[in-house]
Amino acid sequence: MEHSHNIIDVKDKVVIITGSASGIGLNIAKKFLDHGAKVVLSDLNAGSLHQKVKELKSPNVMSIKADVTEEEEIEDLILKTKKHFGRVDIFINNAGIQHVAPIEDFSTETFDKMIAVMLRATFLTTKHVFPIMKEQQWGRIINIASINGLVGFAGKVAYNAAKHGIIGITKVAALECATEGITVNAICPGYIATPLVLNQFDDLAKSRNVSVDKVLNEVLYPLIPQKTLIDIEDISSLVLFTSSSCAKHITGTNLVIDAGYTAQ
Ligand code: NAD
Repeated sequence: MEHSHNIIDVKDKVVIITGSASGIGLNIAKKFLDHGAKVVLSDLNAGSLHQKVKELKSPNVMSIKADVTEEEEIEDLILKTKKHFGRVDIFINNAGIQHVAPIEDFSTETFDKMIAVMLRATFLTTKHVFPIMKEQQWGRIINIASINGLVGFAGKVAYNAAKHGIIGITKVAALECATEGITVNAICPGYIATPLVLNQFDDLAKSRNVSVDKVLNEVLYPLIPQKTLIDIEDISSLVLFTSSSCAKHITGTNLVIDAGYTAQ
């Protein structure tokens, strides 16, 4: 039985974060570094990863390029991390892409790609990290889903399907490691002020020929009970808490952080 009363006890834990050259993934990486963890940044582009590692100026961070649609690159990411740091304690499935179109106009190729980046990758990373975590008898897998994993949004068929599916994988994976000291959870954020979201509102503003602020006030905020975008730091703090030992009985669930969106 673990007896830690320190809420944030991730010091020296080894964390891999996919899609962490920008946005939420990069913010999560900084949060873990601030709390003494060892972090592997991972993303599509080796150049931008090197740049981020340089900027972070920490001896506890390294980067490994990995396209999560390629199974060999996922295996390589996990094995290289284990070789370098000796363990893999926390795996965060964060890589994601967005495309919005009605179903009849949605390209099948784009649908397949989005399922591969978000849903299939979550299966593959779990498959390859489980043996290490089971051997350690300790692990945390945190899947960044979305409120789009809980309710439907017109125009987001692939994103919704992938995020709903991630919640399904989360439950199955949690059951398969429930007695092994490993937890698996999904985090479901609402709208956060990141490039992925701001680009969507930029596009909408351009198509209506109005300012982004006007779109936020007239289109988005009426839908959000707290009338605000979510602070990215709060997402990272929730991930950090879910990784800690006092979250050891939280497993197979989705933690919603959405400013009240899905309460309606
Ligand atoms: P972002 O675009 O800033 O970051 C996503 C990262 O994933 C990028 O760095 C990108 O290069 C990487 N990526 C894309 N395809 C990849 C691949 N095949 N292999 C490896 N990396 C790949 O977006 P973000 O807003 O930081 O999103 C991060 C996660 O949070 C996503 O899963 C997204 O669905 C989820 N999310 C975001 C919001 C939001 O409001 N921004 C809300 C809910 C959930």
